[in-house]
Amino acid sequence: MAEAEGPSESPAEIPAGIPAGIPAEIPAGIPAGTPSETPAENRAETPAESPARPSEPKAILLDRDGVLNRERGFIHGPEELEPREGLLEALRTWKREGFLLLVVSNQSGIARQLFHLDDLRRTHARLQEFCGGLLDAIYICPHHPEEGFAPLLRSCPCRKPGSGMLRQALREWGLRPENCLLLGDAPRDLFAARSLGIKAALMTGDKVPTPDHWPRDQAPLPTFLPDLRSAVAWTLEVLTDPGLKEDA
Ligand SMILES: [Mg+2]
Ligand SMILES: [Zn+2]
Repeated sequence: MAEAEGPSESPAEIPAGIPAGIPAEIPAGIPAGTPSETPAENRAETPAESPARPSEPKAILLDRDGVLNRERGFIHGPEELEPREGLLEALRTWKREGFLLLVVSNQSGIARQLFHLDDLRRTHARLQEFCGGLLDAIYICPHHPEEGFAPLLRSCPCRKPGSGMLRQALREWGLRPENCLLLGDAPRDLFAARSLGIKAALMTGDKVPTPDHWPRDQAPLPTFLPDLRSAVAWTLEVLTDPGLKEDA
């Protein structure tokens, strides 16, 4: 699997004992450790403050590949990143509505030594450019339970369908599950969300082209969304559900 790229650098550049879902790519400008106190700063690019200011923070939790950018297998560097149609417009709408935008991404390519953490950082710097700097944080899991190299070759709670990255994001941003929505393109993204009681919908694509491809033993069938425009519509629709907002 890692034939092309030899382990020219030691994986030791990745801190040993990476905690569940390291917030590896917190955008510059957000002091690590106090994320929940700084999102206002990140909204500076939003033209106008939303008049409706919820008393509790809310977030869209976003898988990366197949949601923000095109799914094309492992992405080794920024040049392989292809933003999805309507990306910036969707993110701006969510920001205007007051959502935090938090990416949660399995990145076992690091454990497999297909690319290095520095490559991933460059990829995510490019991703932030595509996203107009609107992403509040990017959480990654660098592990894989069966493939790759020590110390990242291990089972971990952060790799989806595990909920570790989501739990960390909720904790760091002071979020309750009922104030979050997740968009993913793989069943495991949704399983991670469901295990915490987070509502989630599935972006159709290579992984799950149609509802027929959803695992039959995993009820209920989720909402299927063909593009980001419909994803925005879904999130705003769920948001207006009184059940979601009532106890804010
Ligand atoms: Mg994906
Ligand atoms: Zn992990």
